[in-house]
Amino acid sequence: MIQDLSYGFLDNQYRHLLPQEDDLVVCVQGNRLLFRRNEDNTLALPTVKQVEGWRGNWEYWLDEPYRYVFTLQERRFFLWLGKAEQPAEEAFFFMGTREVREPESKDLCFGAMTAWHLYCWYRDNRFCGRCATPTEHDESERALVCPQCGRRIYPRILPAVIVAVTWRNETQDVSKILLTKYSPKTGHAFPYYALVAGFTEIGETLEGTVRREVFEETGLRVKNIRYYKSQPWSVVDDLLMGFFCEADTEAMQAENAAQNASEAILDANGDPVIHLDENELRTGVWLTPEEMTLQPDAYSLTNEMMLLFKAGRIHSPDDLPLDLTRPDIEELEQQFYGNRSFDQSVKL
Ligand SMILES: [Zn+2]
Repeated sequence: MIQDLSYGFLDNQYRHLLPQEDDLVVCVQGNRLLFRRNEDNTLALPTVKQVEGWRGNWEYWLDEPYRYVFTLQERRFFLWLGKAEQPAEEAFFFMGTREVREPESKDLCFGAMTAWHLYCWYRDNRFCGRCATPTEHDESERALVCPQCGRRIYPRILPAVIVAVTWRNETQDVSKILLTKYSPKTGHAFPYYALVAGFTEIGETLEGTVRREVFEETGLRVKNIRYYKSQPWSVVDDLLMGFFCEADTEAMQAENAAQNASEAILDANGDPVIHLDENELRTGVWLTPEEMTLQPDAYSLTNEMMLLFKAGRIHSPDDLPLDLTRPDIEELEQQFYGNRSFDQSVKL
């Protein structure tokens, strides 16, 4: 996954630092981030020195144009807190936040996405939501404060779940996983298989989100819900939490009986019948490890969970917890992706 950093760890302790020439800067225009193409064709973020040349024309807000965000691979990341312009030099270009997963380096992708998450929080909290006074930086922790009413505003993270629903098909003597594709109605252009996913609502447990999202999107009841792992997913301010669970056909039968419904629980193949929410999804299918295809990159928690199913490491929630180390996961990624997904030669 992208937060599995290849060189160092993410140091996100809050500090009030001033930018130095070689520090990296994340500059934003709309929902696009500024990158540069190196002479060897690798991708990078611009440095403070490079940005300073154009800075005269750029607008910024809050009391300082730069804000230190974190250190990754021993490189310090700063945000440009304002509007960025297209630089004249050809090597620089803006790239949409959804395309940021194209970069060759997981570290660069993770750094850019995480800085973007913080940028959005700064941008959207320039004024106090309670009394509309312009906010100010707090220098002791990552917070914005309202000088008028004293309100403190902290970075916002939205909890969401990723759910792998499994099914043991006794007729065919095979394990299957429920895979979905987004409906074009959601405006989500991702064309590959994914898992059921959704945001946690106020007042809900994570397990409650798992049950509700699976039911809303596919009409299925689930049991044996087990936590696997989490992933920050900054493109949409998320913290994703991955769960495995299995289809609960007995619960569905009991519901049918209670409502005097005669609808079939299993289809002709012996798999639980899916009632798709077509506003959210265009596809929902039960697939075996051999039939399923993975996403084209190994960046997401969704894909890692799919990979574990395909590789036979998890065929039901009972296989958890897994005693897998990061090298074990990397070995699986190597097996399915070759060197493509984690090019260790790319430095920040
Ligand atoms: Zn206020």
